[in-house]
Amino acid sequence: MIAKLQALLTLQELDSLLDQLSEPAAGEEERTVGSTAKATKKLRSKRQTLVREVGSELLGRYEELRRRYRRAVAPVRGGVCLGCNTRRPTKSASRAGRVDTCERCGRILFPVQEPIAMPAAPTRRGKPRKQASGRKGSVA
Ligand SMILES: [Zn+2]
Repeated sequence: MIAKLQALLTLQELDSLLDQLSEPAAGEEERTVGSTAKATKKLRSKRQTLVREVGSELLGRYEELRRRYRRAVAPVRGGVCLGCNTRRPTKSASRAGRVDTCERCGRILFPVQEPIAMPAAPTRRGKPRKQASGRKGSVA
């Protein structure tokens, strides 16, 4: 299931890239348009691969959400959907084998690991100790 989510995330990135490419830039030369079309074609074929990976059920949900939101997949961190910033009820914690969706906004949720907060160790550096003066050979 995680593999499917990964594919879906990649699909989302690809789709937003395609969106950007389809937006015609002002004063674009034909040469540029040509290369854009080439890139679009490449992305579209990659998209086909991802679509197969994601599967029709999840894809259908994704497409539906894409019409509503710019991003259909939202990360969830510490039980909070980062799509709508709502804390999710604890009882709806992710169940194995199921793709989670947010109760509020309906986005497909992608769990992200909480970054481990490392408290900065106090690095109080004392003055470098004065080297014992003495020349080579005179060390006791
Ligand atoms: Zn949400």
